[in-house]
Amino acid sequence: MRTITRLALPVLGLLLAAACTRLTPEQLLAQDIAEALGGVDRVKAARLLTLEGTGRQYNLGQDLRPGLADQTFTVSAYIREIDLSRHRMRTTLTRTPNFAYFQGPQAQTQVQGIDAMVAYGGSDPAKLTRNGGAAVADRRAERFHHPLVVAWALVAGGAKVTAMRTDGAERILEVETDAGPVTMAVGADARPLRVETRAAHPNLGDVVMTTTFSNYQEANGWRLPATLTTRVDDFTTGEYTLTSRTAETGSPEAPPAVADAPEPAPPTVNVAVEQVAPGVWFLAGQSHHSVVVAFKDRLVLVEAPQSEARSLAVIAKARELQPATPLTHLVMSHHHFDHSTGLRAAIAEGLTVVTHEGNDAFVKAMAARPFTRQPDALAKAAKAVTVEPVGASRTISDGTRTLELHHVTGNPHSETMLMAWLPKERVLIEVDAFSPGGTYHPYAANLLAHIERLKLKVDKIVPLHGGIVTMQDLMAAAKPAA
Ligand SMILES: [Zn+2]
Repeated sequence: MRTITRLALPVLGLLLAAACTRLTPEQLLAQDIAEALGGVDRVKAARLLTLEGTGRQYNLGQDLRPGLADQTFTVSAYIREIDLSRHRMRTTLTRTPNFAYFQGPQAQTQVQGIDAMVAYGGSDPAKLTRNGGAAVADRRAERFHHPLVVAWALVAGGAKVTAMRTDGAERILEVETDAGPVTMAVGADARPLRVETRAAHPNLGDVVMTTTFSNYQEANGWRLPATLTTRVDDFTTGEYTLTSRTAETGSPEAPPAVADAPEPAPPTVNVAVEQVAPGVWFLAGQSHHSVVVAFKDRLVLVEAPQSEARSLAVIAKARELQPATPLTHLVMSHHHFDHSTGLRAAIAEGLTVVTHEGNDAFVKAMAARPFTRQPDALAKAAKAVTVEPVGASRTISDGTRTLELHHVTGNPHSETMLMAWLPKERVLIEVDAFSPGGTYHPYAANLLAHIERLKLKVDKIVPLHGGIVTMQDLMAAAKPAA
């Protein structure tokens, strides 16, 4: 009731204005939204919006098991500055993992910015670098994930409502902005409830990015949401409690050195071949590696990671190494997005997926995802997916060569992870359990315990991050720090 009273006078005024200037229902609603946030004139006059507070992030695509949302980061400081009239936004946050994170337990700072068509970011605010790829479009769209940005764009920035419909108590507006289409749901009191934009995700394909707004607070003449919750499709990625303030000056510009730098090109795919044993090849070259194992009747690829481009190149290289033998199987070590980015490419190439049984539904769900915004290999050439799930272990053998797959249990990195062992060659293939080269090895002791429990004879460890090392290197890494 109070809301109606509060809105009655402005709405009456708008109706009179509409009679004189013939505002469309869409324009009227835009004015109502601006009124609900603090007033049309106040919205028009604002230049800089600053959001500040704390929150929590989730670990999309990297949690212990597919579908889980147990692993969180505490965001102890969050600040986002948005230039309302120019395409500038910068977010600086500090987050600390609440789980055994592979990068360590320490707090990390992350900066992400957009300035017109320049995206940038980094972990050190003094050493930001330019970002390429999808960052530009994604951040330009993300800038609209606040009601004041949409309201400003509607009453002062040239954005247009292109469609409007009622859904229960909500009105759904389709808004055409200079960052593309934005969908905004508003309540009966004209308060924005959420904003949705669409994006192309390398693993998930077509996704809806949603921010919901709640806990509206009155401060300095504004009525703005204090709770913002972000989602990728149905997965909650972040929850923030924020205070808002506006200013009529100030703007988060990209640092000049970043703005002057060229946009980085997509990473060059580089598949470097190293023979581990006759018929066993290590395909390294970038940050995520694969292994090909030749049997009499088939080639088995272990891992299709990092990007579709890399995975397709790795598959092509595997076929080149022994052209007379068909490449038939992909062993996917675990479901994490960086290790399953090439999963759909492998399915498109006709490979059967061998993975832990806990990833079975995940693989099928990934294979069924729509990829219409940026069609990938599987979208262009649909293929049915075949999964061969592995429980505690599985042996692949042609009588001469044997490859054993073992479930890596009790690892706080992933609960549905496999490692692979070649008994005759005394080679262990593993990923994320031990990544040589670094100084922090939180899961090395767990890997060593598995090797001892299963009585695996290992001379060489072929990690899918880092270079080939020996069992002694693992033992040194697994030792507790003195
Ligand atoms: Zn992982």
